[in-house]
Amino acid sequence: MDIDSYLRAVPKVELHCHFEGTVRASTFADLAAEHGVALPTADVAKLYDYDTIYEFLKIFAMVSSTIVERDDFARCAYESLEDGVKLGNLRYREMFFNPTLHTRRGVPMARSSTDSSTGSGPPRPITACGAGSSPTSTARTRPPRPARWSKTSSPTAATS
Ligand SMILES: [Zn+2]
Repeated sequence: MDIDSYLRAVPKVELHCHFEGTVRASTFADLAAEHGVALPTADVAKLYDYDTIYEFLKIFAMVSSTIVERDDFARCAYESLEDGVKLGNLRYREMFFNPTLHTRRGVPMARSSTDSSTGSGPPRPITACGAGSSPTSTARTRPPRPARWSKTSSPTAATS
């Protein structure tokens, strides 16, 4: 068995997977056409070509912009799990999404979570994550300064 086959066969646990980052290129193209989102190329095989993390984050945001309807969330989440199992022997995943990437476009928060009456929507649990909520700006923002601890001060007494 070669190393690539071995690594694919090793059982996987993913503890923080953003499902928008796992959308199939063909699904991205389908959803973009359905929702009128202009793509940078008509060549599906090149949709995920990028050289820097900033280019990746732009594509990530563009993918997110094509996930609009409840069925879009369900399709992307289902295919993500299907691909993880088929391609990488995925056994367990904690799946996340960035609510603000969707809600600031006007997608209701409820649409991105499972409707228990119909069973539609992405499978639970998909957990909201605030990281990367503004991928092109926060990626370059310095993290907040940590509070200073000492024997005589509390964290709220930190100096700036
Ligand atoms: Zn996250």
